[in-house]
Amino acid sequence: MRVVICGGGVIGASIAYFLSLRQVEAVVVERAGLACAASGKAGGFLALDWCDGSPLAPLARRSFALHGELAQGLGRDWGYRRLDTLGVVASARRRVESVRSLPSPAWLSPESAVQARLGTTETTAQVTPADFTEAMMAAACDLGARVHEGCVTGLGFAAEETVVTGVVVDGEAMAADAVVIAMGPWSVLASQWLSLPTVQGLMGHSLVFRHHQPGDPQALFVEFEAEDGRMYSPEVFPRPDGTVYVCGLPGETALPVDPTEVGPDPGAHDRLRAMIARFWPTLGQAQVLAAQTCYRPIVGDGLPLIGRIAGVDGIYVATGHSVWGILNGPATGEAMAELITTGATTTVDLRPFDPARLESRRPQEVRIDAP
Ligand SMILES: Cc1cc2nc3c(=O)[nH]c(=O)nc-3n(C[C@H](O)[C@H](O)[C@H](O)COP(=O)(O)OP(=O)(O)OC[C@H]3O[C@@H](n4cnc5c(N)ncnc54)[C@H](O)[C@@H]3O)c2cc1C
Repeated sequence: MRVVICGGGVIGASIAYFLSLRQVEAVVVERAGLACAASGKAGGFLALDWCDGSPLAPLARRSFALHGELAQGLGRDWGYRRLDTLGVVASARRRVESVRSLPSPAWLSPESAVQARLGTTETTAQVTPADFTEAMMAAACDLGARVHEGCVTGLGFAAEETVVTGVVVDGEAMAADAVVIAMGPWSVLASQWLSLPTVQGLMGHSLVFRHHQPGDPQALFVEFEAEDGRMYSPEVFPRPDGTVYVCGLPGETALPVDPTEVGPDPGAHDRLRAMIARFWPTLGQAQVLAAQTCYRPIVGDGLPLIGRIAGVDGIYVATGHSVWGILNGPATGEAMAELITTGATTTVDLRPFDPARLESRRPQEVRIDAP
């Protein structure tokens, strides 16, 4: 059996790995480089129980466990570690009082204070997302998978478009027994080829600094009040390689069709850096190693689309993971591999993520500007 996976982000790489474990031939078709988009530019924060109370909880709990198992079992290093997580309140307009039982580290500014312990080494962890995605793909390739550089431009069908026969890559047919759409926010392109709920991309900016966080590693979720009273939510992740990643400034620019054309809103990285300097002054002055922009994939009800697409045999989708794609990549890959090879899942119930729960648009209703 050959499965073609469209998109080489964390979701595509994870599906390829778990299919390869089942001796299925997996081919990942990637247009612009593995982990070139959100899967290489995300924070990489993982939480055991932050999805509890939502339909995502079983997927997230399974995936948190799988991250730990993969880090121990695959013999590769992608910066996985457990860490504590703090909630910080910061303001450019007023002094913030510390909670007495939670002293603020000396490196935080006087305009900020720790207000809550949000996670411990039992419940929160991190990976470096690009390294994790590349390691999953490398492990898949060790088991027989391969990456094909190219742009998916269509699907092949038979039997009056009720059976998928493969994909079209840069105008050439590539045969497959099953096809998975895992192109993150670009999965919207697949709406030109078959009926699919709408997928959108939400833009975010991030910075990676060369800087060391003193003491034991602590992720920070900051509620920041700017001079004009607007609220922002920067997230800060110190990494084991002596860098610190910060995201939390959304953007306005629409998703370009070509992933290599993703770029920042004017001045966005300077604004993010100025915000950081208000709550962690030495970090705000540190050397910037990377100024990044990416889009997280979302669908209407905030839950991912994971499963078969009704009406056409052999076609599946796995996208819309929003802020939890790095966390939920492994369990998505595991469940998709099981679904494709056996027709059902035992690890995680995928019914809450069935694409059929949302209204789909027919291809003729979709117009996307040419790349
Ligand atoms: C700023 C930010 C911070 C985040 N932080 C976290 C976090 O801390 N923890 C967490 O769990 N999640 C986080 N996320 C969410 C996470 O990054 C995403 O949910 C996840 O990366 C989505 O992965 P994906 O594989 O679906 O899509 P993507 O990573 O977007 O990959 C899709 C791939 O498809 C390729 N592609 C596009 N068009 C085509 C085509 N026509 N043919 C072939 N290939 C194509 C692209 O080049 C791309 O490589 C964050 C997201 C953002 C934006």
